[in-house]
Amino acid sequence: MPLYEYECEKCGEQFEELVSRRNGGAEVTCPACGSHKTRRLQSTFALGKPGKTASSCTTCCPGGTCGL
Ligand SMILES: [Zn+2]
Repeated sequence: MPLYEYECEKCGEQFEELVSRRNGGAEVTCPACGSHKTRRLQSTFALGKPGKTASSCTTCCPGGTCGL
């Protein structure tokens, strides 16, 4: 299951949520204030460090889907 980072637009709380494929489209509730106004952040995983990680990845798999 992918772990996503969310940020609450109401209180600014940032939290991580495991999202299964089944509820991938479901709303995520802020654990701090209960608001549904949350947005998913790019996972630090996927973002990585711009530069070396990304360029080395594109050399081994176009689109960078290998996760390196
Ligand atoms: Zn909140």
